[in-house]
Amino acid sequence: ATANAGAPTIFDKIIAKEIPSIIVYEDERVLAFRDINPQAPVHVLVIPKFRDGLTELGKAEARQRDILGELLYAAKIVAEKEGILDGFRVVINSGATACQSVYHLHLHVLGGRQMKWPPG
Ligand code: 5GP
Repeated sequence: ATANAGAPTIFDKIIAKEIPSIIVYEDERVLAFRDINPQAPVHVLVIPKFRDGLTELGKAEARQRDILGELLYAAKIVAEKEGILDGFRVVINSGATACQSVYHLHLHVLGGRQMKWPPG
């Protein structure tokens, strides 16, 4: 993957349902689906249905300003649905140094096991 802002990724195909995923939550702007390579008993990705990355989100557009709150709220809905409200983690890997591999903004929602801190 590259850090080419706004370029298509595999997540566009997941949004379009051209490739299958196990959807946990969906609304007009947000999609949540199970990670194909789970790092915990619950590992769900929460993504906006548009493609701008975290570091490209502008300040002016309400859509962009509001999406982070919507994603975080969807993460809470996912945690509730998955029964992990007692303990879960929300992570955004932004950029190669942080191990981002898919360049479409996404929150990882992880739970169902004891977490460690600090992360590696
Ligand atoms: P990143 O490393 O960019 O923060 O996370 C990308 C995540 O997307 C990884 O955890 C990876 O397992 C997941 N992933 C990559 N391709 C697919 C896919 O085709 N389907 C699903 N469900 N998850 C994917």
